[in-house]
Amino acid sequence: MRIAILADIHANLTAFQAVLADIEQRGKVDEFWCLGDVVGYGPDPHECITLLQKICRVCIAGNHDLAATGKIDTADFNPRAAESNQWTAQQLTPQDIRYVSNLPLTLEKGEFTLAHGSPRDPIWEYLFSETEAIENLESFSTLYCLVGHTHQPQVFSFSRLKVIGVTKLAHESEILLAEKRLIINPGGIGQPRDGDPRASYGIYDSTIRTFTLYRVSYDIKAVQERMREHNLPTMLISRLEVGR
Ligand code: ZN
Repeated sequence: MRIAILADIHANLTAFQAVLADIEQRGKVDEFWCLGDVVGYGPDPHECITLLQKICRVCIAGNHDLAATGKIDTADFNPRAAESNQWTAQQLTPQDIRYVSNLPLTLEKGEFTLAHGSPRDPIWEYLFSETEAIENLESFSTLYCLVGHTHQPQVFSFSRLKVIGVTKLAHESEILLAEKRLIINPGGIGQPRDGDPRASYGIYDSTIRTFTLYRVSYDIKAVQERMREHNLPTMLISRLEVGR
């Protein structure tokens, strides 16, 4: 089975569609798993929820999804995120709100646990460091864990309770899934933050037991134009072209 791993779409329909076209061209997948933050920051929240619902049955909630539906407070958001969140909330239909409100915080799918931030704190924690990764090992019982939230594609690999590697994943990086425990982040589709502005996603192949990362170019200018039309914060518009 081939499964596309999507994260942090962030209401960027153009990037989302470019990723789906890339997947199609690589020979299709059997399932889509989404690691949350479908909305927030970008100009197309309703359209992204509609498209995701059509193709994806496995999705968890991210902090931006929960904030847009009023389930968590935006007091801990930075001012730009809070401003974009207010605008996002106004774009959602009652059906969108129902869909997002019913998303679980974590899920187990076979050998994987899915969590937006981290397995011990799926809403808020950013998994950047080895220490944080080790502290999370006891919070999931599957062999592997998939996270999003940092918008940075990377993998932590462990031997017992030690991190033995933190590897940044570039385009076409392939990880072999063996006995080592792993925490994998497929990077973000709608707002990459690793210095590469291309959308980022992964494909898990359960037959040959690999996870492969892919980067996809999309029409960034068209998205920026729509964000300007909606008066979204300038910094959120300009960061798309640098991927930071
Ligand atoms: Zn995010």
